[in-house]
Amino acid sequence: MTMPVIPDRTRAAVLHAALDLRVEDVPVVRPAPGEVLVAVEAVGVCGSDVHYFADGRNGRNVLRAPMVLGHEAAGVVVELGDDVDGPAVGTRVAVEPAVGCGTCPTCRSGSYHLCPTGTCLGSPPTHGAMSGYRTVPARAVHPLPDGLDTETAALVEPLAVAVHAVRRAGVETGHRVLVTGAGPIGVLVAQVARTAGAQDVVVTDVYDARLDRAAALGATATVNTTRDDLPVAAFDRLLECSAVPAALWQGMHALAPAARATVVGQAPPAADGLPLALMQRWEIDLNASFRSAHAFPTAVGLAASGRVDLAGVLTGRFALDQAPAALRAPGADPHHLKVVVRPGD
Ligand SMILES: [Zn+2]
Ligand SMILES: [Zn+2]
Repeated sequence: MTMPVIPDRTRAAVLHAALDLRVEDVPVVRPAPGEVLVAVEAVGVCGSDVHYFADGRNGRNVLRAPMVLGHEAAGVVVELGDDVDGPAVGTRVAVEPAVGCGTCPTCRSGSYHLCPTGTCLGSPPTHGAMSGYRTVPARAVHPLPDGLDTETAALVEPLAVAVHAVRRAGVETGHRVLVTGAGPIGVLVAQVARTAGAQDVVVTDVYDARLDRAAALGATATVNTTRDDLPVAAFDRLLECSAVPAALWQGMHALAPAARATVVGQAPPAADGLPLALMQRWEIDLNASFRSAHAFPTAVGLAASGRVDLAGVLTGRFALDQAPAALRAPGADPHHLKVVVRPGD
């Protein structure tokens, strides 16, 4: 096999400050021991990227120095670091952005996504993947089967988030599931909940365009909460994917006795309105889901088998030069679910 020629320099979308995203010439960093170099083909734009772009921060994470954006990446392995024996050069892969230190008690217990010293691509100060090339730990790349194209595979990361969320929610066969928020994560959570055996998956939002897409992608019913109330005692599981606290409280009032609510969308530091008496009276559990762990292989399998429609979630693609437009697209048009930036174009 001919080995790929790796250039000394490449281009990357570098965020300097809020609304100041520049496509720049940067050196190609070669893989250290334990790492591989990925030629990045596509990077999904996430709500967190939009927050960094719009505000220079995402929750408690603040941009303090110029940083390459992007954590939802797929591409081709082009070089292996010392001591790395796979995957082979030429393998197409999805990149898991947060892997933990690998040695602390939290990592050793399996919860590497909660590692106290863990880093995540595109989360300050760690550079992201919106770049022609990116080094990542070898254990962070997940090979793609033939049935899953590399561009669509940029969406394996949000799908893994949905898989982890559905596991945290404990969705079981026959469950009636409520998903609040019909953004990309909400739509993927709805699809994964059905693969887990949910009988009904009702998705709420405030935009009809998003609800129509959720219905086309697997929701069994939709509710526009600006017009209609939710039924009472109607759901066994709630997955909150809108990042709007009122949606969580509203959804919890629609839960049946002994149900569970899971926070998936990014939560504010604190929120008033927790229906504590309701939770006690009906023994309603509340938990939360953060990024994902051990979910990439499942996500790759669900996407490759067609049991989850990832391509239907992808609504736009932009060349690297158009990265600022890509960051503005989801906010400018509620028809957009997920857009990708293609660093090779
Ligand atoms: Zn994301
Ligand atoms: Zn760790």
